[in-house]
Amino acid sequence: PVVLGIESSCDETGAGLVSDGRLLGHAVASSMDEHARFGGVVPEIAARAHLDSFMPVIREALGRAGLGMADIGAVAVTTGPGLSGALQVGLAGAKTLAFSLGVPLYGVHHLAGHVAADTLEHGPLPDPCMVLIVSGGHTSLLLVRDLARDPIVHLGDTVDDAAGECFDKVARVFGLPYPGGPAIDRSAREGDPRAVAFPRPLTGARDARYDFSFSGLKTSAARWAEQHRLRGEELPLADGAASLQEAVADVLTRKAVAACREHGVGTLVVVGGVAANSRVRALAEERCRAAGIALRVPPLKLCTDNGAMIAAVGDLLVRAGAEPAPLDVSIDPSAPLEYAALHPVALA
Ligand code: ATP
Ligand code: MG
Ligand code: FE
Repeated sequence: PVVLGIESSCDETGAGLVSDGRLLGHAVASSMDEHARFGGVVPEIAARAHLDSFMPVIREALGRAGLGMADIGAVAVTTGPGLSGALQVGLAGAKTLAFSLGVPLYGVHHLAGHVAADTLEHGPLPDPCMVLIVSGGHTSLLLVRDLARDPIVHLGDTVDDAAGECFDKVARVFGLPYPGGPAIDRSAREGDPRAVAFPRPLTGARDARYDFSFSGLKTSAARWAEQHRLRGEELPLADGAASLQEAVADVLTRKAVAACREHGVGTLVVVGGVAANSRVRALAEERCRAAGIALRVPPLKLCTDNGAMIAAVGDLLVRAGAEPAPLDVSIDPSAPLEYAALHPVALA
């Protein structure tokens, strides 16, 4: 069947259509511009925008796929984690659609969606694979087996800020526009990554090997900017951005490659919004090649939030024979990533 995936956990409203592992069409609307002047996502504005964009993005995705409503054979929706008002809008809409079309509904973990995004470009994930999730709210190293069936093993997580959060917050201090990650990436192009020796948190011999910490790095970058201001100097923005990006990319890729080696895993998959970062991509490439590890990174458009990735999980669940969600399934704004489906599934 054709699976419609719906994403509304943060500020992107996404709809995607996937069948048998193939992306047929997708569309994304973002309320990012409406949040820019507040420097971060305002939950009420996001929820309101999802309401306005819900049907238009679905129609746009169907149009791109050359399909109609009647072709939808299952609906998958993000039920968590995310902003509760935003998730509620997506789930209410998804339930209504599934009920009126008479098709099964699946509740999907947003982060499993980020992982599955890669399958739409590069085919099924090898079992096992190492996954580095780097997004606005999460930074984790995961050992993934069969995404539709098996529990996901967390080797490490951030103990404070996520990598994307670090980019977003430092960008604000640097006076760069929201969202900060892409702005830092652009500014870094003109800078010297060795200009500032920012710390590499939790990389010492006695540190938890696969945990991450970015709040100290954020503070160092803020202090560096402050020192320039106190001296009345202009901020060497490009150098600061390049050095920060280098520190983040160094820590992420070093730990991910070490985890692959230690666990004897031959494939690293880097997903989430920060996987769009040019230096993270380049350094991952370089280090994986040197270590003989196959690297997979989704295309830029599928790295940040979208509906196609949620449809991809729904499609895997359908093909695994998973039991659909009951129509009274609810959102879980802080759902831990244990399984791809956010409701108990009986597998055929
Ligand atoms: P989560 O998936 O953890 O719930 P989210 O959905 O908000 O959080 P994503 O959409 O996956 O996160 O990613 C958004 C994050 O990615 C933001 O922090 C943004 O700054 C960052 N990001 C996007 N592009 C880049 C880039 N080129 N370089 C660095 N960071 C980037
Ligand atoms: Mg977003
Ligand atoms: Fe996300």
